[in-house]
Amino acid sequence: MTALYSDDGLPPIRDVIRDFGLAAKKSLGQNFLTDLNLTGKIARAAGDLSNSIIYEVGPGPGALTRALLMNGAHKVVAVEMDERCIAAQQQIAAAYPGRLDIIEGDALKMDEPALIGETGDKTVRIVANLPYNVGTALLVKWLTLEKWPPWYASLTLMFQKEVGDRIVAAPRSKAYGRLSVLAQYRAHARRLFDVPARAFVPPPKVTSCIVGITPVAERASTPSQKVLEKVVSAAFSQRRKMLRASLKGLGVDPLPRLQAAGIAETARAEELTIDDFCRLARVYEM
Ligand code: SAM
Repeated sequence: MTALYSDDGLPPIRDVIRDFGLAAKKSLGQNFLTDLNLTGKIARAAGDLSNSIIYEVGPGPGALTRALLMNGAHKVVAVEMDERCIAAQQQIAAAYPGRLDIIEGDALKMDEPALIGETGDKTVRIVANLPYNVGTALLVKWLTLEKWPPWYASLTLMFQKEVGDRIVAAPRSKAYGRLSVLAQYRAHARRLFDVPARAFVPPPKVTSCIVGITPVAERASTPSQKVLEKVVSAAFSQRRKMLRASLKGLGVDPLPRLQAAGIAETARAEELTIDDFCRLARVYEM
């Protein structure tokens, strides 16, 4: 039997799902968390919340939103595309006056700093159980910002385990690719813990994991994000080919550039370290 009310005085999430008619929609990547102990663990993994404004994508019925507020987040700004969830979110907002802003819309199209507004002395952190169908696109959006360090201090995000593996992968591993380089060339990325499929309603087919990403200041030798992305995309577009072939797609002779970067023309993308990619991108910048 579920308790009548949770620690925050609000109904258990399963009741919220039932009462607000939130049958999961596959098209919106909806797999809801129901256990506030688990979402509490995710919230605490995000660091000091009391000094933070949290940007949450896809709050849904609110299990993570409630945990963030219960664990002391100064404020949560939540963007949700499913209008059915807005009423459930309003119930939470009423229990935490002035601490939850709900915006209905598509997170891919949001200008987050404009949405969040004045932050004063607070740090902005992104914490989300992302919809699996747009999770990678959102991550790439946040990792490829030109201004760095970016407007957020950390990302604490749920992904399918396979995507988490790609984000933290090391060179010469199967999962190493564009996402690994983007996540690691000016940030620290760690897989924090796994979340089993049974934790969700409905359960997805695969295990999920929580990934923590913390931006670090760029070094003088960090290439421009745009050039790095072009080089990395070309290199991994044909990951089995040698770089002397795969980089031809960039429209200039790769051989002198590989040589200038001290990289063997016979090397393959997956053999290059992040530093190698940065050096190579710097040569392409010249
Ligand atoms: N945070 C809730 C939880 O942990 O139970 C729900 C997570 S569910 C995996 C993803 C949520 O993102 C859903 O509520 C879905 O409606 C919402 N969503 C899907 N696409 C979106 C988009 N482009 N922008 C904003 N929200 C989106």
